[in-house]
Amino acid sequence: MNMAVSLHPHQLRSKFIRALAIASLFLIIGSALALTAHVRAQTAVVEADGTLRRIAVPLLMYHYISTPPEDADIYRQDLSVTPETFRQQMQYLADNGYHTISLYDLTRALRQGMPLPSDPVVLTFDDGYRDAYENAFPVLKEFGFTGTFFVITTRLDVGDPAYLSWTQAAEMAAAGMSIESHTKDHPNLRERDNDFLIYQILGSVESIEAHTGHRPHMLAYPSGRWDAHVLAVLPEVGIWAAVVTEGGIEHTTDSIYLLRRVRISGETDLPMFAALLGWEWDRADNTAYRADDTAYRADNAAYRADDITYRADDGLLLQESHQPDEE
Ligand SMILES: [Zn+2]
Repeated sequence: MNMAVSLHPHQLRSKFIRALAIASLFLIIGSALALTAHVRAQTAVVEADGTLRRIAVPLLMYHYISTPPEDADIYRQDLSVTPETFRQQMQYLADNGYHTISLYDLTRALRQGMPLPSDPVVLTFDDGYRDAYENAFPVLKEFGFTGTFFVITTRLDVGDPAYLSWTQAAEMAAAGMSIESHTKDHPNLRERDNDFLIYQILGSVESIEAHTGHRPHMLAYPSGRWDAHVLAVLPEVGIWAAVVTEGGIEHTTDSIYLLRRVRISGETDLPMFAALLGWEWDRADNTAYRADDTAYRADNAAYRADDITYRADDGLLLQESHQPDEE
């Protein structure tokens, strides 16, 4: 005999009410915790714990996932991976035990030692073309993968049909994709003043947050161009990490704003794709990049000497930047 059958209706009701009260309490505590975690994730900078780490993770760089039109120029052809090829590449990753991670995971791994899954890979898509929604997003969902999409927010604001709509971007974000900043207008960020950089970077960050509900903390430099001033502004506007277009798969705690990527082009066949994941084809080049890196660090140290003056102005500029957009 079922125990509940022997209870009087009023006993049943009080039992039910007690269960309901306990369930509500858990729900309230759970929501409070989730909210706290959410607020923390939105605001907290990922602090470095003082350990320098070197981690090899390929950050694949895609642009168009579509068949280029007949009259496409050489650049468009080079930047286009057909949907069929893209699917084969995702199949390769799945078959070979790769796990997609986000740039947030990589940031926490580099700065705080957060463990990563085996064979991690980051899939990045630049510019926010419409085909990211039409051709990349369904395949990523099918494989249970996540991707990072760097959008040029003005293109979405004006409803350019060649680019994602904000509705599509929000749907992708809700499905676990990262919608991140590629600035408002895709300008060259070199030799710009504070106002310009804050407008382009913080402006795009705030648009993405307003439309998707997720505040982005990652940036792809338009055409891979940056300078020491840009690097100094990024942490001030809540950017935690940024990607360049130079090739490489090794990242260090102090290269968090210069994360190298692996370019996947229209010419990349499957054997090449496999080799690129291991960065086996060009370690010599990578060494050359490191020599550049050292030169860059010397420049950066010199720049930091001037930095104090810049920071004195900066508080004022940040206040001004919180005024509503002018458009
Ligand atoms: Zn771009």
